[in-house]
Amino acid sequence: MAEITTKLLVIGSGPGGYVCALTAARLGVDTVVVEAGPTGGTCLNVGCIPSKALIHAGDEAAHLRAAASGAVPGLRLAAGPEIDMAAIVGWKDGIVGKLRGGVDGLLARAGVRVLAGRARFLDGKTVALDGPEPHRIHAEMIVIATGSAPSELPFLPFGGRVMSSTEALALDHVPPRLAVVGGGYIGLELGTAFAKLGAAVTVVEAGPRILPRWDAGLTRPVAERLNALGIRVITGAKAVGAVDDGLAIEGPDGAEVIAADRILVTVGRRPMLDGLGLDTLGLTMSGPFIKVDGRCATSMRGIYAIGDVTGDPMLAHRAMAQGEMVGAIVAGQSREWDKRAMPEVCFTDPEVMSVGLSPTEAKAEGHDVVVGEFPYAASGRAMTLGATGGFVRAVARADNHLLLGVQAVGAGVSELAGGAALALEMGARMEDLSDTIHAHPTMGEAVQEAALAALGGALHL
Ligand code: FAD
Ligand code: NAD
Repeated sequence: MAEITTKLLVIGSGPGGYVCALTAARLGVDTVVVEAGPTGGTCLNVGCIPSKALIHAGDEAAHLRAAASGAVPGLRLAAGPEIDMAAIVGWKDGIVGKLRGGVDGLLARAGVRVLAGRARFLDGKTVALDGPEPHRIHAEMIVIATGSAPSELPFLPFGGRVMSSTEALALDHVPPRLAVVGGGYIGLELGTAFAKLGAAVTVVEAGPRILPRWDAGLTRPVAERLNALGIRVITGAKAVGAVDDGLAIEGPDGAEVIAADRILVTVGRRPMLDGLGLDTLGLTMSGPFIKVDGRCATSMRGIYAIGDVTGDPMLAHRAMAQGEMVGAIVAGQSREWDKRAMPEVCFTDPEVMSVGLSPTEAKAEGHDVVVGEFPYAASGRAMTLGATGGFVRAVARADNHLLLGVQAVGAGVSELAGGAALALEMGARMEDLSDTIHAHPTMGEAVQEAALAALGGALHL
């Protein structure tokens, strides 16, 4: 077995791991990455990027169908779209391959050694790599960035007709009838995409409404659109098991069988710690996740953890930000997690975005708040896009107008998340938003209008 000695070993090459390795190597740290699957992790291979490709394909199909039914007066299409799912998946795989090649190139140019195989801790400084070329790796510092895997329901194990998001993203056909268990991020993003591509979709959600972790005002336009797309949503319902040709559920109206050719289970994700040998280290845990401090250090000196293994929110940009910080720390820089704003975006139709505190969360933290809202129904840009559903909301402290949060639901509002996060990071006041010239006509003007609304009156309301 080959022996390697390095200063830094990163286990996992998802957005957390590869950003950490790149940062450290560019700062001169001798770095090895080990990866059990393809480089890029969940996000690049079976997560953010492939799902957004499928969502885009679904959106284009919906646009064509809308054009065929005269959504834009004067523009007519003779027939609806023909869908070749295998070709769509091939296009998606091409994007993933190109981006993966990009990550491989970045790591190689930074001098990072990438080894294929599954890592297993032997002790706090030594890892065995089980793979095509087994290695024993000795490292001064080790970063655990092994991510997460889909949670399985014991009575609906993955296999056959029952899929996780990973299989759903690789289907070569659109299932005629799709049952989705879990109306959270993945269930709604992929359920909507498949409905637009022609599937008859039913979403079964245990909570009292879809996206139960988001506030009701934000999710209402999404629920309305699901309804308009013909997606059946059953809330307060639990899956019971797969039956011939369908999914058995216990709903608010009792037992029912949902006819389904495929069942997509999206009830959350669990940290990927299988076979990692964590028991040999005895790390302090926080529930199922690895407990870390403000520097992403674990309870064992020299061992860090980043990304989904450290718990919610399980988001790629959080993993990347932690990876960048830890990469700098292992290179000798003094760093601490001091981010104020963690944008969250759900790529539903319409999109939902939140940065910072909602009014309810702000009040729960003891703030007296002013809140301004501006509806897209009053936005010129939204009208020209045929997308007047949704609104932007700005939340600030009542005493000094310090911005506490921005939320939005509407077409393309994911692109507002960066600006809102910047405002929060820079300690903006409501007046900073209202005094900033926003380009006309854009969906972003609604942010300025929401701030004006909070300060006494939106211009266009
Ligand atoms: P991962 O990306 O999971 O990478 C971990 C890597 O570690 C994997 O490559 C794995 O093979 C490897 N590994 C595991 N164990 C070992 C071992 N023992 N030895 C060696 N290697 C190992 N987030 C967003 O912010 N925006 C989105 O739009 C979004 N969309 C998503 C859509 C879907 C369908 C899914 C499933 C997730 C989505 N996410 C999204 C979440 C996002 O993908 C994760 O938060 C992110 O990938 C976490 O990064 P990570 O580096 O912690 O782990
Ligand atoms: P989720 O936590 O977003 O949603 C799971 C849903 O399943 C919840 O609404 C929950 O109430 C419901 N549920 C749980 N058990 C159930 C049961 N037995 N029957 C019916 N419903 C049940 O989880 P997810 O959609 O699997 O996504 C996992 C994580 O991946 C997300 O939390 C997020 O961190 C990340 N993700 C992010 C994005 C994004 O940023 N746009 C996209 C996809 C995934």
